[in-house]
Amino acid sequence: MARILAITNQKGGVGKTTSAVNLAASLAGLGRRVLLIDLDPQGNATTASGIDKQNLERTVYHVLLRTATAAEVRLRSPTGGYDLLPANRDLAGAEVELVQEKEREFRLGLGLKAAAGEYDFLLIDCPPALNLLTVNALTCADAVIIPMQCEYFAIEGLADLVNTIKKIKSRLNPGLVIDGVVRVMFDNRNTLAQNVSDQLKAHFGAKVFDTVVPRNVRLAEAPSHGLAALQYDRTSKGAQSYLQMARELIDKQEASGNG
Ligand code: ATP
Ligand code: MG
Repeated sequence: MARILAITNQKGGVGKTTSAVNLAASLAGLGRRVLLIDLDPQGNATTASGIDKQNLERTVYHVLLRTATAAEVRLRSPTGGYDLLPANRDLAGAEVELVQEKEREFRLGLGLKAAAGEYDFLLIDCPPALNLLTVNALTCADAVIIPMQCEYFAIEGLADLVNTIKKIKSRLNPGLVIDGVVRVMFDNRNTLAQNVSDQLKAHFGAKVFDTVVPRNVRLAEAPSHGLAALQYDRTSKGAQSYLQMARELIDKQEASGNG
């Protein structure tokens, strides 16, 4: 059965897109069928998947507005080995347009239903906000993945996010769980990062992924070539750490009987 994972953190620039794209490529590299959903008007996951976001006739926006189906909108990433529901600036209007509509919190899930069975993993790259787009991701996800930089303010922001997830769980999506917090852009020579990492483990226990993604320049360079790090420099620490995290995700899925 397909597992839908929302990669989210309302804080900007924390590594959501990098995690989404590199996990998609890693899961595909490990033989899993993956649909990556770009749910951010910035369209960074689209660009990083090797697709030009400027001239797209249809995007995830059309799925939310029900003017196209996911099967009509999806594209194959020419570089990543996975399918993509692309996004661009059009998506910025969706929030306003959806406010009047019925089932506005569930549009993404309803739109994905028909195609979901063709995949093992659906990964949603969320925008840096707790807005209606993110709510749509959280109402259809089985689980949330939270990328986190181990900085002082990060823990504070995490409390808001966990509260939102709790609210969505109790009101709109009872099955929602936090699959894990992943420490990204990690610098283990930094004492503060170590402290924050220890606090995370104390608070989230087994929900912290064993994989730690280091700060690695290859991860930052790869998207400008429309590539995941796995294709750009397979042996880099960044590529290898996302591959390891993908294995953790597969193990979790198999342990939950969905393998
Ligand atoms: P936004 O909130 O704007 O959507 P985001 O949370 O998706 O941002 P990214 O775009 O993935 O964050 O990352 C922010 C910046 O940090 C990018 O320039 C990216 O290339 C870089 N980056 C992400 N992870 C790493 C890493 N492990 N090592 C080095 N650079 C990284
Ligand atoms: Mg992003």
